[in-house]
Amino acid sequence: MPLFGLGTWKSKAGGALETSLRTAFECGYRHIDCASAYSNEDSVGKTFQEVFAEGNVTRDDIWVTSKLFNKDHARVRDACQQTLKDLQLEQLDLYLMHWPAVSGCEGPTLKPSIKETWQDMERLVDDGLVKSIGISNFSAKKTKDLLSYARIKPVANQVEVHPYHRNSTVVEFCQAQSINITAYSPLGSNDSEKMFGREGIPKILDNETVCRVAAELGWTPAQVLLRWSLQKGFATIPKSTNPQRIIENIEVLGLELPAEQFEKLNSLSFQIRMLDGNFTTGENTPYPTIRELWDDEV
Ligand code: NDP
Repeated sequence: MPLFGLGTWKSKAGGALETSLRTAFECGYRHIDCASAYSNEDSVGKTFQEVFAEGNVTRDDIWVTSKLFNKDHARVRDACQQTLKDLQLEQLDLYLMHWPAVSGCEGPTLKPSIKETWQDMERLVDDGLVKSIGISNFSAKKTKDLLSYARIKPVANQVEVHPYHRNSTVVEFCQAQSINITAYSPLGSNDSEKMFGREGIPKILDNETVCRVAAELGWTPAQVLLRWSLQKGFATIPKSTNPQRIIENIEVLGLELPAEQFEKLNSLSFQIRMLDGNFTTGENTPYPTIRELWDDEV
């Protein structure tokens, strides 16, 4: 998997997304992170076709990830085929279970179970619809459960990681199991409403340490965060639809964060989970609160 990718959540289908994908391909991105839940896969697929037709980038040059959404666990194959149709691809490089959650479940049990959903995803690999499968938003505990029965081991766990959420328990567990950590929201999901109303605590792109390191090195704060992510051993998938930022972000492939500055970013005391998954929780559901969703891991 190319370790540097373009995120597409909140990238509105249409011209801006199409231009941003073109910019990304031109400046060297070869990994695109998609999901049916982002409601823009048809727009991504249209651009893929145009770009492939122009001949500078081929299907084999790029890595495409998509995700099975919570409402689709009982129809894994259909959902995957719809994504393939929207993306205008014959095969995905990686298909992730987006959340360990199923829409509309009442009571304490997930229906279908994670095991049943995973087995359906394994059949997608057997049948060649996807090259590999993985998980997303799985705690270490849920990952360990899955490993106890998985016939095909997940290649990646895509989770939120940045210096404001080091997410150490799951990161250390997966890295010890050789499961790639793909860091989502590596810039702290910059426009997250989560930070509003937190008196005195800036967004991570405005954090004092991040900005000081950026000034010392002559980089931008975003570059500091992305380089930290890569040097932690993660694949990282910043989202932007701004061509200048798309270029700025991938420039980190040619940079190196010195050990001293890397350590400073490893020890920010303020920690927060921006994407807490509260939309998957509720009374009389398998995850009554977010504690059950994340198994109390930080
Ligand atoms: P990011 O941390 O990537 O931040 C994106 C925000 O940062 C946007 O507002 C973007 O604005 C801005 N930005 C991008 N580059 C810069 C820059 N150089 N300087 C300043 N601001 C910048 O957030 P996301 O939450 O989007 O995470 C990235 C990707 O991870 C998603 O797009 C998605 O593909 C994936 N993801 C997966 C999840 C999962 O459940 N598996 C959950 C969340 C995300 P602009 O576009 O205007 O540049």
